[in-house]
Amino acid sequence: MSDFHSPRAPHPAPRTADGPRPDTRIVHPPLAEVTGSRPLGVPLHQGHLFAFETGDALTRAHGGPDGAFFYNRFGNPTVRTLEQAVADLEGGTGALATASGMGAISTTLLALLRAGDHVIAQRSLYGGTVGALTDLTERWGVEVDYVSGDDPAAVAAALRPDTRVLFLETVSNPTTRVTDLPGLIAVAKRAGVVSVVDNTFATPLLCRPIEHGADIVIHSVTKYLGGHSDVLGGIAVFTDPEIHHRVWRRSLELGAAADPFAAWLTLRGMQTLALRVRRHCDSALDLAGRLAAHPAVTAVHYPGLPTHLDHERARRLLPDGHGGVLAFDLAGGRAAAGAFTESVRLASLAPSLGDVHTLVLHPASTSHRQLSDEELAAVGIGPGTVRVSVGIEHPEDIWADLEQALAKV
Ligand code: PLP
Repeated sequence: MSDFHSPRAPHPAPRTADGPRPDTRIVHPPLAEVTGSRPLGVPLHQGHLFAFETGDALTRAHGGPDGAFFYNRFGNPTVRTLEQAVADLEGGTGALATASGMGAISTTLLALLRAGDHVIAQRSLYGGTVGALTDLTERWGVEVDYVSGDDPAAVAAALRPDTRVLFLETVSNPTTRVTDLPGLIAVAKRAGVVSVVDNTFATPLLCRPIEHGADIVIHSVTKYLGGHSDVLGGIAVFTDPEIHHRVWRRSLELGAAADPFAAWLTLRGMQTLALRVRRHCDSALDLAGRLAAHPAVTAVHYPGLPTHLDHERARRLLPDGHGGVLAFDLAGGRAAAGAFTESVRLASLAPSLGDVHTLVLHPASTSHRQLSDEELAAVGIGPGTVRVSVGIEHPEDIWADLEQALAKV
């Protein structure tokens, strides 16, 4: 074997007279300092390792989620910028960004629960959350009682001495029922139960659950906060530093940390959140009204419509707009829904929401396919229910697309 292939081959580069060799200088480039000006764009700290002057300082850095940066699983400057930004919007004391919305949900549940604990959860939760709770039941004996989102008495009736968590969503998927956050959370608070609210559908611009008593707020930032179908991420916002610390510790073990580039993309998306949310809300209200008047449509589910079951509650909890997601029922059932979702041209048949693009979905055969017909009916999903996540395209173009697809059903 030649010297070149040998792992012990000597460095080919010559040593310079007055400093380290090129091989070494390549590994230690002088870092450009920003002086005399400041970056307007959020800096991306992709590097995941940080060096210290003293061993004591490195030891102290391990102490908690607000410590000095040393290794990205424990914290990173770009990720912390995202955590502080979302904590600020939600009115929390701190936040933990994770690799996905499910990462935030599972890490939080695993940090709060022990084997044998009891959870009260809203019946219409996102399927992934129900899956995580079911797994906790099967593997760890965590018992879960499901209740409706508008009945504080049902929460009171379900309470047990070992109840640890109440898990809710601000707006339910896909029928956009608006949860009685103040009513349900007040019952949990009196019993010392931690309230967790998934606020993904509402965004912190339309609803801030902490103002209604929530202890933890969760987002899939994959949706509205990121907004551009180019990033997967999640975040949990806390009101109690001790709980924040506990969930952060669990995230270290699970390896749930957000990647800095994902955090950076989310922060870039968030800079236009207010503009996008305004457009999503205005267009969704406009389209909901037009759909309600269409002969192929038997019902429209959008909290901005006076006909919606929770319209009054929505006016109180979502005073600045009712979100960008709506659902409607087609008279022709499953066949009509299939024809509709495959006939859209501007909109896309895709399983997400909160995007700049308009997305359509048939919940009974996709996001909620694990439910029986009775369970679907219990959460208001019919065979002909279609969900639309209204994008930021011109509303006339979105309507023209939905109208031509409705003509095919
Ligand atoms: N919460 C809600 C309300 C969701 O709709 C979703 C995904 O659709 C999630 C959580 C999970 O988020 P992620 O896909 O980022 O893990």
